[in-house]
Amino acid sequence: MDLITRENPARVDEVVGSVPVTDPAAVDAAVRRADDAFPDWSGLTVAERVAALRRGADTVAARLEELAPLLARESGKPLADSRGEIGFAVTFLRWVCDEAPAVLAATEIDDDAGRLVVRRKPYGVVGCVTPWNAPVILAVLKLGPALAAGNTVVLKPSPLAPLTVTEVAAALPAVQVVHGGAETGRALAGHPLVRKVAFTGGDAAGREIAAAAGAMITPAVLELGGNDPAVFLPDFALSGADYERLVMASFATGGQVCMAAKRLYVPRARIAEFTEAYLAAAERVLVVGDPLDPGVTMGPVISAAAAARIRALVAGAAGGTAGGTVTPLGRSAPGHDPASGYFVTPCLVTGLDDHAPLVAQEQFGPAVPLLAYDTEGEVLARANAGELGLAASVWSADEERAFALAGRLSAGFVFVNTHNRTGMSLRAPFGGVKRSGYGREYGREGLLEYVQSAVVHVPAAFRPGGPGMAPGAYPGGVHDEIPRAAGTVQPPP
Ligand code: NAD
Repeated sequence: MDLITRENPARVDEVVGSVPVTDPAAVDAAVRRADDAFPDWSGLTVAERVAALRRGADTVAARLEELAPLLARESGKPLADSRGEIGFAVTFLRWVCDEAPAVLAATEIDDDAGRLVVRRKPYGVVGCVTPWNAPVILAVLKLGPALAAGNTVVLKPSPLAPLTVTEVAAALPAVQVVHGGAETGRALAGHPLVRKVAFTGGDAAGREIAAAAGAMITPAVLELGGNDPAVFLPDFALSGADYERLVMASFATGGQVCMAAKRLYVPRARIAEFTEAYLAAAERVLVVGDPLDPGVTMGPVISAAAAARIRALVAGAAGGTAGGTVTPLGRSAPGHDPASGYFVTPCLVTGLDDHAPLVAQEQFGPAVPLLAYDTEGEVLARANAGELGLAASVWSADEERAFALAGRLSAGFVFVNTHNRTGMSLRAPFGGVKRSGYGREYGREGLLEYVQSAVVHVPAAFRPGGPGMAPGAYPGGVHDEIPRAAGTVQPPP
């Protein structure tokens, strides 16, 4: 049996663990088991399912101190960050348990027009394909709502961080986990018994997943990449703590976060002041080293390939005609040896134009361009350029002004005076516009992704004693009041 063996990206000689690769025949068997389990799981009441999910959340919470170091070791995410991610996944699961009964409740209207029941029915088997950068929460964002709604799930985590999420999934009911890369992902998304696909990841995989699902007419939620602009209006007023939060909005998890602040737009007149305060804040909060060292806030990137890609992007920005200036940020933890793993020095890059690949593409790593602008109209156009539209932020001392500009940004989520996870809300739907994907996670909308409405209706005309209706007639409504123009097709008498 083939194994996926995961090394510690901070100490590449250390094996953290392994999982068996699921071949396509075994994916088929897992989906069939999930399909077999569907009638029993969906036959429970929402209250019964939520009770089982709460027990799962409690199990994960009880194991947090054991799971956090595992997540840190397999993903390179600092220990506090790993603890935060697992804790947030527990919080999210409990939030789903609180909200699901009301959101998933059937609605019934019984009035002069008839009797109408709209039920929220689960799809069946949901196939989830998830990335490595936040492997626990990005899986739980799908598992929680899908399971509460009565679906069963087959989850395929990323082979780059499969260990902790497998433990978390094992604590939840009605979930099967399969392991592998692109082939396993495609086999799951295109399986005829998978009735809904939920994917988080990059553009290339997203297109293949969408194509595999589309070939089966299976609906999908796609949460793809972002190239988030952070726009500082001329009146921005940032304290030292605000600058620290901004630095971590770009460099948490080594910049490998979909909604990291990936392009910073600052008024030309305030660039020098901004740069000085930003570098000072980075020196205070950005400490690179082993994720298990409690003083560290940034670990390695996920793989040798990722490190090479990001270094090439930075080298390209500094060299040739790009003309950028690269300033290293932060400091190393005492005793840190960058050669022990996939470490990339975090940096701020100035002097680029918006066509430079580091600006125009999602860098997904610890390198951030700082860009000057002159007018609000100009920065709006530049922030909205490109194919991605996940999140964005506007920073201003004037909340009204910030909200006004925020409403004109092409993004599914705009933070004001913060960016990245500090700006999230459990009750707000999250997802992208343009090629950042479709469908939503979090909030009521994130729960409703995993149900279809199914209607039972008897018109008043056909209830006992009702007046009936002419054969083929359209139902009554506003059109009765619209004068019929000569020559239009008349409804039957
Ligand atoms: P990825 O697209 O390489 O992999 C994601 C998942 O898809 C993994 O499970 C992988 O094994 C699988 N996969 C890869 N190629 C596939 C293929 N051809 N067919 C089927 N499955 C395939 O992404 P990644 O490197 O793990 O994550 C980075 C990307 O994810 C970034 O672009 C980031 O912005 C995005 N992301 C988006 C969100 C969001 O909420 N919008 C959140 C986190 C990450």
